[in-house]
Amino acid sequence: MSLRVGEAAQAVGIGLTLLPTLYERGGFDGRPLQEAQERFATTPELIGRIISETRSAWAETPLLSVGLGLHSLRAVDLKTASDLLSAQTGPVHIHVAEQQKEVEECVAFVGARPVEYLLSQTDVDERWCLVHATHLSASEVAGMARSGAVAGLCPITEANLGDGLFPLAPYVNDGGRFGIGSDSNVLISPWEELRTLEYGQRLFTQTRCAALPAETLGSTGGWLYRQALDGGRRACGLESWGLVAGARADLCVLDEDLLPLPYLQDDAVLDAAIFGSRQPPVKDVLCGGQWRVRDGRHLNRDAVTAAFRRTVRILLDL
Ligand SMILES: [Zn+2]
Repeated sequence: MSLRVGEAAQAVGIGLTLLPTLYERGGFDGRPLQEAQERFATTPELIGRIISETRSAWAETPLLSVGLGLHSLRAVDLKTASDLLSAQTGPVHIHVAEQQKEVEECVAFVGARPVEYLLSQTDVDERWCLVHATHLSASEVAGMARSGAVAGLCPITEANLGDGLFPLAPYVNDGGRFGIGSDSNVLISPWEELRTLEYGQRLFTQTRCAALPAETLGSTGGWLYRQALDGGRRACGLESWGLVAGARADLCVLDEDLLPLPYLQDDAVLDAAIFGSRQPPVKDVLCGGQWRVRDGRHLNRDAVTAAFRRTVRILLDL
């Protein structure tokens, strides 16, 4: 399945960092998986094998790379994951402190809050992406920022599931890094993720330009975009990045006609794209040095859409 996902990513031309994910138990108390969870079940041996096989299959493929996923503290015992972690060279992702219930269960079973426990038991560093990390104490905010890990924020999913708001202002004031992700597939839009992130913070803190660190003036959109881009490339394990020799040629051209005002300049374009556009204002996308989207249309859109619809019909048994 991992190899098939990689083939699909290459066929449409999208960068992929695959995260084979350890999922071994039903809860902190070590209870077995429920029937509905059994399809996720993996062992450290299986994950290690998928990582090494995909890594060697994709060694010459710039669009594809491999990291490691630990599903959550609830589903993974950090002790059984320790060999995987020490062998791991790419990024490591874990969903953590996603809901209050998880925090309560973690405190009840290990005597510490999830991020506090993770930071104390494992060498969390800049390879790590802590997805959600919504429910943090002040010392967890500081510890996570200090670790160099990326907070993998998924504001649309977190809003959709009613899970809470990440403490962004104290975290960025401590120098914390963040990226954005989709988590569920309820709506895939990086622009809307950034808008939801910023507006959630404004509503919660009753301030404006809530994400900008203290003493920082300027464009909220530009700042959010650059922070999320840097956090995202770290979370994907991309080392060289941007308009530099040796980096993968990934570019996105925005469509001025879809922005609310003409003649916008510099960061005002990003402010308008994030806060003022009804649809993603994307015109062209270059990925791995090849144009994949021209004039708002994926070059292979008809065939991809037809194959997707065909597959969904089979899965739904229609
Ligand atoms: Zn999640």
